[in-house]
Amino acid sequence: MPVFDSRSFKDHEQVVFCSDAATGLKAIIAVHSTALGPSAGGCRFWDYARSHRHSPADIAETRSEQDAVYDVLRLSRGMSFKNAMAGLRLGGGKSVIIGNPKQLGTPALMQAFGRYINRLGGSYYAAEDVGTTPAMMMDIQASTDYVSGLDGGEFGTGDPSPHTALGVFEGIKAAVQHRIGKDSLNGIKVAIQGVGHVGQYLADHLRTAGAELIITDIVDDHIQAVLDGGAATVVSPESIHSVDCDVFAPCALGGGLNDTTLPEIKASIIAGAANNQLETEGVHDEQLRQRGILYAPDYVINAGGIISVETEVYREPLDHAARRAKVCRIGETLTKVFKASDAESLPTGTIANAMAEDIISKANAAKMAAAAE
Ligand code: NAD
Repeated sequence: MPVFDSRSFKDHEQVVFCSDAATGLKAIIAVHSTALGPSAGGCRFWDYARSHRHSPADIAETRSEQDAVYDVLRLSRGMSFKNAMAGLRLGGGKSVIIGNPKQLGTPALMQAFGRYINRLGGSYYAAEDVGTTPAMMMDIQASTDYVSGLDGGEFGTGDPSPHTALGVFEGIKAAVQHRIGKDSLNGIKVAIQGVGHVGQYLADHLRTAGAELIITDIVDDHIQAVLDGGAATVVSPESIHSVDCDVFAPCALGGGLNDTTLPEIKASIIAGAANNQLETEGVHDEQLRQRGILYAPDYVINAGGIISVETEVYREPLDHAARRAKVCRIGETLTKVFKASDAESLPTGTIANAMAEDIISKANAAKMAAAAE
């Protein structure tokens, strides 16, 4: 399995494979860049073998490990870009634990994993991600201080979802201004796919701003929670991407912008919280651009959560106003991306990647110059 030559390995500073026979831990920590500060990114606990369950056992094992390596490299590079575009003093990293969290996710395993994070001496800070829970983060904390997004404690910043939702709301305002030329969301129709943690907070902001809501979810209670706050049109999960609206806000799972859904989208703006919305980066965002649909790159618009934990990594007292101001700057950053995309006739995702790479390479150059003095 080539690692050094793989496209996703590009520019990684360090990748650590961790194992602990006593607890069954198999994990990978990828530090893409520490140019801007300690790398920070979630810890994903995922049963990679599940998608290869029909293959012979030895092949399934190899392929699932390949998937895990690819995932952690891709995601850690993505975190570098996200943190850079959010203007944070944080680099990009990610970790994956291989296996079923329900079977393997014991306190002993999480503590063993914490010991590996600790050995990196602060170049990687873990946080909650798919498959991990706040309780697991507390288990990791038993072995290391290099963990963030904790509830309580002197520097704890708590649930990131309200901050992610505020950033998405600011991003939608910037996109509406750029694409439709309106300074207000009054009367703007927004279709929210998934009204979970982020989607519900987003619905509140949009409603207060006078937007009309169209919503869907696969959990009735989540829909009801939005309806309890006021009016919204409820549609099926299968039809949400194709409803007549101004803004389509994916706030459920990734991969929703693909060959099937793209031709059916009627919105002129796509701006939502979900990670990895494009099935194929560089292809589907280019198709959106050619159709005149403005796409807010997911990692730029959904950075409110990581912005929220920056002070926790630095063990600084939380300044609510400063955090809010930083989250609200997501709108300005997106406007720069939108304008450059228009000027250069390139997809917004390509523009955002280039901007992020530029920020990181300048920080690297400054670091090297400082070290040479
Ligand atoms: P969540 O699990 O609380 O909410 C997701 C919602 O989508 C749930 O209500 C779920 O029932 C619904 N859903 C799932 N499949 C669906 C489908 N096919 N159709 C319609 N609804 C469906 O998650 P969240 O924390 O609100 O995050 C939402 C998205 O934003 C995720 O992609 C997440 O990775 C991303 N994100 C979240 C944060 C954060 O701070 N929570 C930060 C950055 C990115």
